[in-house]
Amino acid sequence: AKVLVTGASGFIAAWVVETLLEKGYVVVGTVRSDSKGKYLQNLFKDHGDRFSYVIVEDIAKEGAFDKAVVGVDAVQHTASPFHFKADDPKELIEPAVKGTVGVLESIKKYGPGVKRVVITSSVASIVYDKGREGVTYDESDWNTESPRLVEEKGRNAAPVHKYRASKVLAERAAWDFVEKNRESVAFDLVTINPPMVWGPIIHEVASVDQLNTSIANFHRHTSNKTNPPLTEEQRKESLGNWCDVRDVAFVHVEALSLPTAGGERFIVGSGGFTVQDILDALHASGEYPDVLTGTSGAAKDTVHNVYISGKAEKAFSFKLRTMADTVPETFAALRKRGF
Ligand code: NDP
Repeated sequence: AKVLVTGASGFIAAWVVETLLEKGYVVVGTVRSDSKGKYLQNLFKDHGDRFSYVIVEDIAKEGAFDKAVVGVDAVQHTASPFHFKADDPKELIEPAVKGTVGVLESIKKYGPGVKRVVITSSVASIVYDKGREGVTYDESDWNTESPRLVEEKGRNAAPVHKYRASKVLAERAAWDFVEKNRESVAFDLVTINPPMVWGPIIHEVASVDQLNTSIANFHRHTSNKTNPPLTEEQRKESLGNWCDVRDVAFVHVEALSLPTAGGERFIVGSGGFTVQDILDALHASGEYPDVLTGTSGAAKDTVHNVYISGKAEKAFSFKLRTMADTVPETFAALRKRGF
């Protein structure tokens, strides 16, 4: 079977492509430039000619995917901007929503062979302020708060809400599209909803300032040059939840072929974390004695939000990685590139 992966040059997408190729799929990736395509072709050269790329410069442009969907059996839509630098929330919302609806429209017109579409959503489209700490979320939760805050405050909305709004509006638009076009399309939809994604980087990153947002965040916490000893407050602070990019990619790929996954959302999250947890996992590996903070031992009274991932683990029969696996491997991949 032939699978289209949008935004193939991204952190998560590169792993989705790798995992698809390992499983024997033929993969076409969309990238914004020839040089990004060439990098990937080299990265995946061991898989022979089963990887190719097409250029889609801007996913928000009408008909951007019209050519790319021709002759494919399934689509993994991962392309979407993930950063907190937007002044105007439209910078994030337009490509997120138009890119998502656009790929579905193109499939409707030119991709009759597509039977399933998997979209990389996020816990950003699930999380909202339930009014207390340590909240538990599952796939029935929807973030209605961020779109409202962005509507009210526009450019003055908090950066995190601009990003979250882009993800929840895009995911909503996808489910609405499928609902409205039930009679006229052959595909069903699956969304994957991860929190912060870590793991080894295999995509093209020339320098630290080009790291994708979640790895840049990990890098900030672990680059010993900039880490002062943690204060008690920092040791305790929950920084959200995390998961491994290889688990996220695995679920994307398994979701293509599991019939009962159609119409479902899947949270993929390994749990909450503090900076201290990351540093403790590095120390426990025994390999990085130079990553010093002057503190060790995670605080016992940290309260994390919980994203229940049992649905994905059960459906796809796997166990999510732990920090002992992911943290040292993420760090090693960064060091290998001299970051
Ligand atoms: P990256 O920034 O590494 O990947 C994003 C990809 O989307 C890149 O290939 C980028 O191309 C492409 N893209 C963005 N905007 C456009 C556009 N207007 N036109 C064409 N291509 C575009 O990030 P991630 O791999 O982390 O993110 C991938 C997906 O996963 C996103 O949908 C994100 O929201 C989601 N996600 C990520 C999480 C994380 O922690 N990393 C957590 C939860 C969800 P280029 O690089 O050439 O600009």
